[in-house]
Amino acid sequence: MCGLFGVRAPGRDVARLSYFALYALQHRGQESAGIAVSEDGRLTVLRDLGLVPQVFDERSLSGLKGQLAIGHTRYSTTGGNAWINSQPLIHHGRVRTVALGHNGNLVNAAELRAEVGKTLGSSSDSEVIAAMIADDPASLEEAIVGAMARLEGAASVVGLADETLFAFRDAHGFRPLVLGRLGDDHVVASETCALDLVGAELVREIEPGELVLIDGNGVRSVPALECADGGALCIFEFFYLARPDTQLAGVEVHGARVRMGERLAAEAPVEADLVLPIPDSGTPAAIGFARATGIPYSEGLIKNRYVGRTFIQPEQGMREQGIRMKFNPLAEVAGKRVVAVDDTIVRGSTTRQIVQMLFDAGAAEVHVRISAPPIVSPCYYGIDFASEDEMIAAHSTVEEVRAAIGATSLAYLSLDGLQESTRRPASTLCRACLTREYPTRVPADAAKLRFERV
Ligand code: SF4
Repeated sequence: MCGLFGVRAPGRDVARLSYFALYALQHRGQESAGIAVSEDGRLTVLRDLGLVPQVFDERSLSGLKGQLAIGHTRYSTTGGNAWINSQPLIHHGRVRTVALGHNGNLVNAAELRAEVGKTLGSSSDSEVIAAMIADDPASLEEAIVGAMARLEGAASVVGLADETLFAFRDAHGFRPLVLGRLGDDHVVASETCALDLVGAELVREIEPGELVLIDGNGVRSVPALECADGGALCIFEFFYLARPDTQLAGVEVHGARVRMGERLAAEAPVEADLVLPIPDSGTPAAIGFARATGIPYSEGLIKNRYVGRTFIQPEQGMREQGIRMKFNPLAEVAGKRVVAVDDTIVRGSTTRQIVQMLFDAGAAEVHVRISAPPIVSPCYYGIDFASEDEMIAAHSTVEEVRAAIGATSLAYLSLDGLQESTRRPASTLCRACLTREYPTRVPADAAKLRFERV
């Protein structure tokens, strides 16, 4: 995951625009946040661990002046959650200085780090991209195209160098990236919800393999790489990652999730009294399930929205309460046959606790419905799931998973059902964590902290 934003808008407060855009992209990464600005070519970055409002305040934002800016919210997939890995990173190369934000995971990061042949400050896979661009004596455009050609895996990137804002997607287009317009100025963002927040209009998606350069001469598109195999936009973005109000490849995510719920109801109907979502991610699919079956929809489980990462550990006695930090059931589930709808089961421990909580609250039956197929294999392109050994569905049947989570019944949406709900052809999507068919080679060592060891 990770959220990206970029803007070129001389005369506007580009840092403040980035700040608000990052707010809209907070769901893509909560570990660190940062903004880099370019003022007449001089780059300044402010980044730190924490959420967007924890990293920036009025004073720090007012110190970030410039004509161009990029912003980043980070969720680590290569390199630990440390300040040094927060982004945008700045790399001073032999030829130029580059500020860069990256969303995705490279599968050839180890080879590239070795090739770059110098010590990098961070242990992520992102600095190697900045280093290749910063050290290349060619023009900025040629340097970026040259770097893009050497990346394997997922890389949606925004950057600043030579008084230019640049943005590109890898040849598969695993992670989204869009171009928007703000009056006469231009912005780029991971998701359209960030454009909405800053009042920008969507111009179009940046295509897989496309480089966009934005400078004093306007916007220039360079078809740097041929789109690989029709593209491989991550299907996880549709059912889990992207915000529901985002348009992904022209499809509103909320609508796609409602269709997943409707399809799930057709594929795995059940006699029940209430449909409830496991909030918040299961909500649109639960709406679809309820709509398709006519079973009343209820909030059922109330989520405490203020529980984030907590640094204060509850005392031993409270730890058993576990999941109650996050959820509490309504009394109305007592005596009811409930359908609990969620979008994923990864390890199974949270679902098991929720099922138990519903039974403890008096539910007569708890039918679990999942609006995607079982996750059976790791992601090498920027989503940090459990390892395959920890995935409950990787080596178990649906019945074994049902028994492990203690539900009355369990059903997953089919792969066809999921893909058709996105209204995108299967050939344009990555579905590797559901099918084990990866669109690139798979790295021998994909451990998140692998560069910490060296
Ligand atoms: S492996 Fe799964 S999570 Fe990763 S990019 Fe492909 S579909 Fe998305």
